[in-house]
Amino acid sequence: MILGVIADDFTGATDVASMLVRAGMRTVQLIGVPHDDAAPSADALVIALKSRTVPAAQAVTESLAALRWLQRAGARQFYFKYCSTFDSTPAGNIGPVAEALLEALDADFAIACPAFPENGRTVFRGHLFVGDQLLSDSGMRDHPLTPMTDANLVRVLQAQSRAAVGLVRHDIVAAGAEAVRGRFDELRADGVRLAVADAIADADLRVLAEACAGLPLITAGSGVALGLPSVYAARGWLRPDAAAASLPAVGGHAAVVSGSCSTATNAQVRHWLEAGRPAFRIDARALAAGEPVAAQALDFAAARLPHEAALVYATASPEDVKAVQAALGAERAGALVEECLAEVAASLVHAGVRRLVVAGGETSGAVVQALGVRVLRIGATIAPGVPWTQAEGRPLLLALKSGNFGAADFFSRALAQVA
Ligand code: ADP
Repeated sequence: MILGVIADDFTGATDVASMLVRAGMRTVQLIGVPHDDAAPSADALVIALKSRTVPAAQAVTESLAALRWLQRAGARQFYFKYCSTFDSTPAGNIGPVAEALLEALDADFAIACPAFPENGRTVFRGHLFVGDQLLSDSGMRDHPLTPMTDANLVRVLQAQSRAAVGLVRHDIVAAGAEAVRGRFDELRADGVRLAVADAIADADLRVLAEACAGLPLITAGSGVALGLPSVYAARGWLRPDAAAASLPAVGGHAAVVSGSCSTATNAQVRHWLEAGRPAFRIDARALAAGEPVAAQALDFAAARLPHEAALVYATASPEDVKAVQAALGAERAGALVEECLAEVAASLVHAGVRRLVVAGGETSGAVVQALGVRVLRIGATIAPGVPWTQAEGRPLLLALKSGNFGAADFFSRALAQVA
């Protein structure tokens, strides 16, 4: 085991894991800190927490527990993965968690770099851009839980941190890893413990990964991870495995369960329906009225599964969702749908489904819990940030897609990729 990653949410964990696998590291994702010390065999282990929006003290406690587990598992370097839009509340949690990890590792310096150029997230002079816009002009301004109203990450991180926050400017990154390490030394001498690092292209991320080779901790989005496998290979720690992404063929039936109401998922469901493929719609009102909706969905799917993949979906347009929420309350509607889809997923697997696509972050969480899955081996990428995964030790492949990922043909494309 080489790299231990602590991710602050579930789909973010899958994103960074997918990045490592693409570059030849055998990677396993753990859902929460395992209860025992038995670590699966892999080059990198990623612990998925749900710590992005919890109170800072709780995020620190959970992250330290993950760190200790990864240390016992033998990790040589650690990576705190957060969102490429630096999602955090004004009270944290990126600064407090990063500083606590540094202290626990007896380390005095780490970079902070959310850049992910492939997805349009770049950092220049400490400012985060989403495509052509500053973070503070992007849709993140109005995020319900983590509104980001300042694109200056040095300022944002400083407000969350005890020690001084610095900057590694792009001209230094462009000069290469040695120049960057020189800058690290200067910053350290000035008492800086965390430094925002500029990166506007993958080449910059590779330089940063190389410059951080001797540091115990990296804090970043998933981008910096793309440079790590070659650094480990150069050190003789890793022989990149061309088959790192290969998962076994599992056979069985295939199905899709969709509880996301995002624009992308709505397009994906529409695409499936327009292709004339079998689909059963879950009606939240029928659920609230106590109708046996899950059983009906299963009956529908079971009749078709021997011949073709079936979709069970609650996905609805924003207007429909609003109307249902007005009638039932947003929380109750969401919980009813999640519970139903989780039950449907579990009974589909019981009925012989071995390849399952799930759309929706919260929905994926509920499904994975209902299936009793705690460990996922990461396979090939379907769309940026979404890989196929295998429930460790079981003949069950899962593609867990967060809302806005994937093109319109995502469901059929995903299913065509595995046997
Ligand atoms: P995303 O990744 O797109 O945010 P999530 O699964 O995280 O998707 O969240 C979608 C939420 O909307 C879930 O709580 C789900 O149960 C709920 N939901 C899904 N369909 C409906 C619907 N038709 N009416 C109301 N709520 C719904």
